[in-house]
Amino acid sequence: MTTVPVAADSLYGVTNLPYGVFSVGESAPRVGTRLGDTVVDLAVLLGDDVFARPSLNDFMAQGYDRWVAVRREITERVAGEIPDEAVHALDDVTMHLPVEVADYVDFYASEHHAANLGRLFRPDNPEPLMPNWKHLPVGYHGRAGSIVVSGTDIVRPCGQRKGKDDAVPVFGPSVRLDIEAELGFLVGTGTAMGDTVPVAEADRAIFGVVLFNDWSARDIQAWEYVPLGPNLGKSFASTISPWVVPLLALEPARVPTPVQDPRPLPYLAMESPWGLDVDLSVRWNGCEVSRPPYREMYWSPAQMLAHVTVNGAPSRTGDVFASGTISGPDRDTRGAFIELTWGGAEPVSVGGEQRTFLEDGDEVTITASAPGAGGARLGFGEATGRILPATGGD
Ligand code: MN
Repeated sequence: MTTVPVAADSLYGVTNLPYGVFSVGESAPRVGTRLGDTVVDLAVLLGDDVFARPSLNDFMAQGYDRWVAVRREITERVAGEIPDEAVHALDDVTMHLPVEVADYVDFYASEHHAANLGRLFRPDNPEPLMPNWKHLPVGYHGRAGSIVVSGTDIVRPCGQRKGKDDAVPVFGPSVRLDIEAELGFLVGTGTAMGDTVPVAEADRAIFGVVLFNDWSARDIQAWEYVPLGPNLGKSFASTISPWVVPLLALEPARVPTPVQDPRPLPYLAMESPWGLDVDLSVRWNGCEVSRPPYREMYWSPAQMLAHVTVNGAPSRTGDVFASGTISGPDRDTRGAFIELTWGGAEPVSVGGEQRTFLEDGDEVTITASAPGAGGARLGFGEATGRILPATGGD
């Protein structure tokens, strides 16, 4: 038996207890939690087969009351001595995609981001927000099958683009490859077709939160997106963090959203819509270039889930809905490079080099922290990806 050491200032103390899927050597992937720099095997700790599986889906499907009970049990168990075979050093494990992703929707919930993109994509329009933006959480359905875990290399996509000086479209590797720093929300328990998730019930349906990088090929996107929205400019890859921070751990991080004016329609209206006080950090080749603040997001996660089910579309265990790029009001809080460099016109310094969009070999890492219980800060792991050269396309 052993006890797990946790530094007093660790982002992974007993008030966090994120869930992830790990393997050691050739062993089969299974569910664990992170405590300090230790991964605790939950199948061994709790003696429950639902954790001896290669995704969190079966556990998530057990529902809110079970999530509460398991979290309480883990908290109690890790305070004492636990079996040696349940304990692995973080450095000794391989982390995997934590969920089998069902459907994926990406929203557009930051007013600062939506306004900046409006100015960049529609410079002749005096109103940067589209007329619908403050009435509904705008989103599009993305590609669930290309969500990958942190550390997976990202191959530069090829596609069509048409610059304003091009007479006809050309095909080739994207020359404006970008990131979008976001949070992703995992649906734990779904709804049948015809049912809805009211805003007041969303926090019993949302299991947890991951970091999310919606890699975006801006040149492909700019040519293809009218009138149906993003498609191949984003569907090639999205990176998530391996650790899922339970929404239960983030209750101390709840903050009011910015004032919602006009008042949303009744199915979206909340007495006090809540966001999350999560501070993100974006590092480009190790150099921090932005600190996006999630607390600035206009639409609440509860409103996003209510909206995506209000037409009776089913939701499923493993659904991911992402927030959209997190951007604050200041330049150094913008969560996408197209905003940070104003469409490439204002390069940023990355380790002494002037940069606009991603080059082959570049690496982007998103991290975050949020207030937890008892004055602790909670970490989210990281979402990292390195750009590999395009294969073919020339
Ligand atoms: Mn996005």
